Amino acid sequence: MGKDNVEIIAVEATQANMMDYEEASRSFDWADVEKRFSWHETGKVNLAYEAIDRHAASERRDHIALHYSDPVRSESYTFEQLRQQSNRAANMLRKLGIGKGDRVFIFMPRTPELYFTLLGIIKIGAIAGPLFEAFMETAVKDRLADSGAVAIITTPKLVERVPSHELPELQHVILVGDEQEITAPYIHFAQEMQEASTEADIEWVDLDDGLILHYTSGSTGKPKGVYHVHRAMIQQEYTGRIVLDLQENDIYWCTADPGWVTGTSYGIFAPWLNGVTNVVRGGRFSPQDWYETIGRYQVTVWYSAPTAFRMLMGAGDEVVQQYDLSSLRHVLSVGEPLNPEVIRWGYRVYGQRIHDTWWMTETGAQLICNYPRMDIRPGSMGRPIPGVEAAIIDDAGNVLPPLRMGNLAIKTPWPSMMYKIWNNPAKFEEYTRIPGWYISGDSAYMDEDGYFWFQGRIDDVINTSGERVGPFEVESKLVEHPAVAEAGVIGKPDPVRGEVIKAFISLREGYTATEELKQEITRFVKEGLSAHAAPREIEFKDKLPKTRSGKIMRRVLKAWELELPTGDLSTIED
Ligand code: ATP
Ligand code: MG
Repeated sequence: MGKDNVEIIAVEATQANMMDYEEASRSFDWADVEKRFSWHETGKVNLAYEAIDRHAASERRDHIALHYSDPVRSESYTFEQLRQQSNRAANMLRKLGIGKGDRVFIFMPRTPELYFTLLGIIKIGAIAGPLFEAFMETAVKDRLADSGAVAIITTPKLVERVPSHELPELQHVILVGDEQEITAPYIHFAQEMQEASTEADIEWVDLDDGLILHYTSGSTGKPKGVYHVHRAMIQQEYTGRIVLDLQENDIYWCTADPGWVTGTSYGIFAPWLNGVTNVVRGGRFSPQDWYETIGRYQVTVWYSAPTAFRMLMGAGDEVVQQYDLSSLRHVLSVGEPLNPEVIRWGYRVYGQRIHDTWWMTETGAQLICNYPRMDIRPGSMGRPIPGVEAAIIDDAGNVLPPLRMGNLAIKTPWPSMMYKIWNNPAKFEEYTRIPGWYISGDSAYMDEDGYFWFQGRIDDVINTSGERVGPFEVESKLVEHPAVAEAGVIGKPDPVRGEVIKAFISLREGYTATEELKQEITRFVKEGLSAHAAPREIEFKDKLPKTRSGKIMRRVLKAWELELPTGDLSTIED
């Protein structure tokens, strides 16, 4: 793709962060970022101290750190209040004999208690294992057993899915709920918190001591325990500043659940390391509630995901007009490729350029991004952040020239790179099999200006009549059609063509699945993209299989198609 036919949404000079990308990349040194942390002077390391206590000891002490709301609760906490609540949680855990290196899991809906606890775990040097509340018993058991967790904080309702009798290492089950629901041997969270002191000694750790264990979402197979260490804070603070563009008085809202890495790296660490007000909304997705949240708190920076933006787009322009979104200054997306159609729509109705960011659970923080001060090329993930080098390499490790599709790889190391995969060194080696590089498992190409373009996961790239087709491009064209709400595209084995393209499509409200519509959609892709990328087969579905974090699971579509076992489904939606 040459420069001439690239669509560009140019930057407007209204952003607060006017960092010059080229200049920042030239002069960049991670050592300069390290100077921003108190441990640089004191030698005392703990992420929770940097995120909370440091601000509580400064003039930001009474600044709002957390605005929480759900359909029944609405609460706000200052940095000082969060310091005290997380100290209580730390003391509660210490009293049980829990300490440095122990794995402590959190399995509950988003509430302030979740945030107090997670910070408390980190304060005592233990390792937090957040689990999304929708997990069923087998998924919970697999993760607790694999990690050897000693404690779990959950609710009276969810504890039914924690098979303690099958988990010999699990010693403490703490429940967040009403007193009458909680009896021994369960520990009553509220009571322990109330009795605990608001002062606690912080466990000072090493930069390479354990912080968090995230089991990834399972788009491609069995979930793996990605282990991160305190060092990750360096890149989380930095990207919070230069990619999220967080400024002193921002009101920031990340819509991700802490069960996924976005909900911790950017739903907890990045905003608080930067001392910024963080909005958390509990409860289910609804366009009205989401827009209302932006208006109520006057959100300035908003980080969400393609699936949410597609649903908001599906809800229509009229809904947007009923709310006050004028506070928004900067909007970002992560998790899946961001369809150009969604970017155009966002620009039209929000007046905001939605900035795509690419990274993974394993990478701990953002790596390839669209910056505030950068022209957006819809469909591109952007350029590597200063301090990070990315390339497209072939399977032998040769760096490929621009415009060639291949393995998206990152030069090792960077501060937030995973430290290991828990209990699975062989898996870790798959990522690092080519010396000097981290192999992401994603397929992409780089254009002549250094912008990266995601094509699909390596396993999802389709080989049809000798052409390599990335499913993302086809899906993006499909969702441009007015009838299409969402699309998942796979390669189906074919004796003549190697593979043919098959599209699974869910329709927007008001459209009926007919043979004519299939033909019209096929024609639409043929004319708008290319004949060889047009689906040979279309199947309409009420819903596409997605992970709980909202990603279309192409491996499940493929398994359906080939009538193969679907593999691990612990992370699938209902
Ligand atoms: P698993 O590794 O268990 O199969 P997962 O890969 O979905 O699950 P995550 O670590 O949450 O788990 O997601 C990272 C992946 O999501 C990336 O490798 C990429 O495929 C996709 N992704 C994330 N952000 C983007 C983006 N901006 N553009 C395109 N793809 C993205
Ligand atoms: Mg992955």
